[in-house]
Amino acid sequence: MKNLFTPVKIGPLEIKNRIVMPALHTGYSTDGTINDRIVNYFETRARGGAGLIIVGGCAIDEEGKAPMMIHIGHDRYIPGLQRLAEAIKKHGCRAAVQLYQAGRYAYSWYNKVPSMAPSPVPSRLTGETPREMTVDDIREVTGRFAASALRARKAGFDAVEVIASAGYLICQFLSPITNKRTDQYGGSLENRMKFGLEVIRGVKDAVGKDFPVLVRVSGNEFMPGGSTNEEIRLFCVELERAGADAINVTGGWHEAAVPQITMDVPPGAYVYLAQGIKQAVGVPVIACNRINDPTIADKIILEGRADLVGIGRGLIADPEFPAKAQAGRLDEIRKCIGCNQGCMDRVFNMSQVECLVNPQAGKEAEREIIPAAVKKRVLVIGGGPGGMEAARVAAARGHRVYLWEKSVELGGQLRLAAVPPGRQDFCHLTDYLKRQLEILGVEISFNKEADVQSVNDLKPDVVIVATGAEPIHLNLAGKGNVKIVSAWDVLKGKAAVGSKVVVVGGGAVGCETALYLAQIGTIDGDTLKFLVQNRAESVETLIGLINRGIKKVTVLEMTDKIGRDIGLSSRWIVHKDLKVNKVEAVTGARVTEVTAAGVLVETADEVKEFAADTVVVAAGSRSVNNLYLTLQGICPEIYVVGDAKQPRKALEAMAEGFETACDI
Ligand code: SF4
Repeated sequence: MKNLFTPVKIGPLEIKNRIVMPALHTGYSTDGTINDRIVNYFETRARGGAGLIIVGGCAIDEEGKAPMMIHIGHDRYIPGLQRLAEAIKKHGCRAAVQLYQAGRYAYSWYNKVPSMAPSPVPSRLTGETPREMTVDDIREVTGRFAASALRARKAGFDAVEVIASAGYLICQFLSPITNKRTDQYGGSLENRMKFGLEVIRGVKDAVGKDFPVLVRVSGNEFMPGGSTNEEIRLFCVELERAGADAINVTGGWHEAAVPQITMDVPPGAYVYLAQGIKQAVGVPVIACNRINDPTIADKIILEGRADLVGIGRGLIADPEFPAKAQAGRLDEIRKCIGCNQGCMDRVFNMSQVECLVNPQAGKEAEREIIPAAVKKRVLVIGGGPGGMEAARVAAARGHRVYLWEKSVELGGQLRLAAVPPGRQDFCHLTDYLKRQLEILGVEISFNKEADVQSVNDLKPDVVIVATGAEPIHLNLAGKGNVKIVSAWDVLKGKAAVGSKVVVVGGGAVGCETALYLAQIGTIDGDTLKFLVQNRAESVETLIGLINRGIKKVTVLEMTDKIGRDIGLSSRWIVHKDLKVNKVEAVTGARVTEVTAAGVLVETADEVKEFAADTVVVAAGSRSVNNLYLTLQGICPEIYVVGDAKQPRKALEAMAEGFETACDI
């Protein structure tokens, strides 16, 4: 990790390593001010060894702010910001704030003032149409950026970053999609760049030459008809001329149809965007998006593809990522898996950030893992995510912990979740928890079914029941050559599946099982690269080869929505993937009977037969909690966590395992 831990300079500012925590909205501020929760959250990440933390976004005004965002648009916010800067800097970490103005991405119903943008182009994100900014508005907002930057300096921050990425205000001026102006701020690229450059000059004039100003840009908008990569590179060259001391490169706009932060994005996939900009500018460049592994990060620096790496969700998942990487404790890093269940999905729902793999995120002070006052014998029954997390935290607190797993492997449903295409990162969580249980000396028994006798024999003080759930079987019987199997058995590799498949149930498990089956027979990434390099097939043939497998797959869903239990950040991608993979998805469809040729389905308009040789049932799951009921009164303390309590997502299972173990 030598490269990752070599100091670097942004302007005159020396940073101890190459790890930057980019701005990530947390929703922790209720009124724009800094509170204890925010200080503890960032201080924990600074203590964990990050080189630079960029706090934010921080709203520069009312028109462009987001819900529950930190504010920097008035001097009254300075004292809180000062406290935050001190908390970060006392750990040798540099502190910056990101200056944020959302333009047409702002919600006027929330901000109580109309949003404004270069042109009145409706926003798909908010469903609103902003008002067009006058030249006076442009000057006013430029001044707000500058005044906010000066506040950051007064508060003791080491640098500021101006957001010109993701489709926010400066992007809206740069892009021909959203800038329809006919004055000096619209039309040619030179004119469209003008606002962004004036902001940087204004900020630089306000804070002085010795104070670093970073700019966050989209390396590619991924918006049809938007700015091209070449235009963005030219913009970055001009930003450098205007005084930018570093360029922080992320992917496209929030409205883009290209996934940028989900699990299916290969780690480090967008480094090429930073690399392209680095070739055009002389200031340091930061590469971002899905860099969740220190080995990948170190290689990016070694190969000179970027000067620093942005590890945002990676530090939510494990604040000690840098310290562990530097000490070579790579197998102890709790990697971000790109699930978005705790972070982005909650931000999109205007909630506060949590983390699936790190239930302590955002509760650093209130939920510290502290030694237990009374050391107990704790039996955890079930080695899925909730059980493993409970065992980890209980053992970390000094309890003697036994974990009984009825199968031969730990992981529970995480193992199934990791099977569909683009979902392999779920394995990271299982691997991390396994390693922690080993380090902490948890006594694990496999093939161990718990019952009253075996629990009585162990005499635990505490029992945590984490026995998970089982799939619901529908009252359907196979006929002729039509087989009925469960989605779980398909994902476990226990059920053979024919070439015509009907999946009954269009929730997350049904959709992902359908995608897994639809991908069978497609070519992999290496084969694709080989064929492209050798120009062996036409582009159309290659697209067919990566998307068309050997099975015809149909998903039948009773309700009116496919993927209703999938988070907002991922649902649209699943819909798109089903379409691309030619999976037919039918809503409002009730299966009434299995016939000798398939399934009979009732919809609002008709009764129709869908041809199938295999029916895959993905009709949900139900808790397995008999033990919780039978052990009542036998053990002094008994708890139930995760799906055994109620089938939900891994986020809830992990959180309950964590909370329960903190309380015993
Ligand atoms: Fe990463 Fe998921 Fe945690 Fe978000 S919730 S930081 S995506 S592991």
